[in-house]
Amino acid sequence: MRDLYEILGVDRDASEEDIKRAYRRLARSHHPDTGGDEASFKELTAAYEVLRTPETRANYDRFGDPRGPGGGMGGDDPFGGFGDLSDLIDSFFGGFGASPRGATRSGRQPGRDALVDVSVTLEEASSGVRRDVDVNVLRGCETCDGSGAAPGTTPIRCTHCDGAGAVQQVARSVFGQMLTSTVCPRCGGTGTMIQTPCPQCSGQGRRRLTEQVTVDVPPGVDDGTRLRLSGRGEGGRHGARAGDLYVRIRVAPHDIFRREGHDLHCEVDVPMVQAALGADLQLPMLDGDHEAVRVPPATQSGDTVTLRRRGMPRLSGGGARGNLHVHFRVRTPTDVTPEQEQLLRHLAELRGEDVPAHGRGLFSRLKEAFRA
Ligand SMILES: [Zn+2]
Ligand SMILES: [Zn+2]
Repeated sequence: MRDLYEILGVDRDASEEDIKRAYRRLARSHHPDTGGDEASFKELTAAYEVLRTPETRANYDRFGDPRGPGGGMGGDDPFGGFGDLSDLIDSFFGGFGASPRGATRSGRQPGRDALVDVSVTLEEASSGVRRDVDVNVLRGCETCDGSGAAPGTTPIRCTHCDGAGAVQQVARSVFGQMLTSTVCPRCGGTGTMIQTPCPQCSGQGRRRLTEQVTVDVPPGVDDGTRLRLSGRGEGGRHGARAGDLYVRIRVAPHDIFRREGHDLHCEVDVPMVQAALGADLQLPMLDGDHEAVRVPPATQSGDTVTLRRRGMPRLSGGGARGNLHVHFRVRTPTDVTPEQEQLLRHLAELRGEDVPAHGRGLFSRLKEAFRA
């Protein structure tokens, strides 16, 4: 049988998305309705059905040919072309008969993936940070080394499947007779039975425990970024491969900066006179530095200056960063003294701007005082 990855034309570490894309592309050209070769199409679809599901893919990665060692069906089986792929086709058609979807003769499921949330500040998302997180996972039992059998005892060969881990049955379907292979219900696919269970894990081979995992959060993570720690998820049953640990990053909102992609935005209040005449400000940055920001003369509310490469770093590294956009907000003074008011009135006069003779609040009261 050809390598399934080769059939789909993808690398062994291809993502689920890559596999889906490769299948769609090839399925179009191989489909019998569009003049493709039926055998190639079936082979392609069967390969896709194994690799699209993480569990069956992991089984394939671990055990290779899903017919298993010494696979029972040779070229002379009565099911013709289908027989060669019967396990695959079985999973493709969703398991007619008693076969569970995606079951293979090996039956060894890798451990499940685990997910943990880690909250960081925007400063930490920018610089990167190392965090110790507690992860509650099932881990291989150390007492029995994951076998589930009490120390000093060994599991015996399963009496139901005679150690094969799977049982064969003939299922009738709209496609005719099909030979299907299902995981042995007695031994769960391991081919062995435990007579004396390990007292520590009750024969499960795994124990739940809280483990501290050190996570290196790289610079540039965003809210929702998932980091994958290979093999740090739940331990597999009976010594099967462990799942992966996914660390989901939560970035807390920041008082000053708002993030959009790799760019940062902030709003800066500029007093009216500085907005008119121009000013130099010192703006605190995420890394603790200050950056000089020039407010040009005649700045209006909503005007923006862009500081290049002062945004968030790109997760891909290489020193690339986004930009920082500073949005100015012109502020009118609310606390002018009588002397300042006089100056402003003089300014208005010079500019030919009409202002009412009396102000409000404090100034109305002053006016009352003059009248008295
Ligand atoms: Zn144990
Ligand atoms: Zn069995």
